[in-house]
Amino acid sequence: MLRRLALGGVTSACVLQAMGSVDRRQFVDSGLGNQAYEDTSLPIGFGQTISKPSVVARMIELLLAAPGARTQGLGRVLEVGTGCGYQAAVLARLAREVYSIERLRGLHERARANLRPLRLANVHLIFGDGMLGFARGAPYAGILAAAGGAAVPAAWCEQLAVGGRLVAPVSDASGSQSLMVIDRSTQGFTQSVLESVHFVPLKSGIG
Ligand code: SAH
Repeated sequence: MLRRLALGGVTSACVLQAMGSVDRRQFVDSGLGNQAYEDTSLPIGFGQTISKPSVVARMIELLLAAPGARTQGLGRVLEVGTGCGYQAAVLARLAREVYSIERLRGLHERARANLRPLRLANVHLIFGDGMLGFARGAPYAGILAAAGGAAVPAAWCEQLAVGGRLVAPVSDASGSQSLMVIDRSTQGFTQSVLESVHFVPLKSGIG
């Protein structure tokens, strides 16, 4: 998996190391174990998927390249869409604190069970609607969404620290999704739209 990521353009040694330290197989159903190291999204139940490793690596690389993270290391991060907890485990190796919020109770509990053996003291799992962000952990050096909507919720921008970066899939009018990066500086917000991606939909409320 690591060789494929490196060939696919992941250049950050610390991201590759973090991805190498979390066994993706422990986060997918045993029946899918033989596909765990392939660069594909896989079903995790409840109609949701674990993201492709290359996309997990790409989004974390973008967070680490934020102005604040480059000078001070990656501080507190909010992940919207815990799913099975895989990305939260990788983030835990690179960020000081990880707050990860999931709107489906079944997945929130599955992530808790998946992460328990890893004993990651800096990961905080929250059950709730991530469209509201998670104000108690704010401000965040990084916000990363694993589900995509038509726009970035205002709460996420409000909860982003100066020097911080938000990385989220956003759909256009035709429904095609692209990765959006929003940086916050003392001057305000700047945004850029990057490559196209395929994430599950961002939904409001809890279930
Ligand atoms: N981070 C996961 C990917 C999970 S898939 C990984 O490591 O692979 C995206 C998740 O976002 C789904 O579990 C879905 O239920 C969740 N989601 C969608 N809308 C949400 C919202 N408003 N708040 C929190 N979670 C949300």
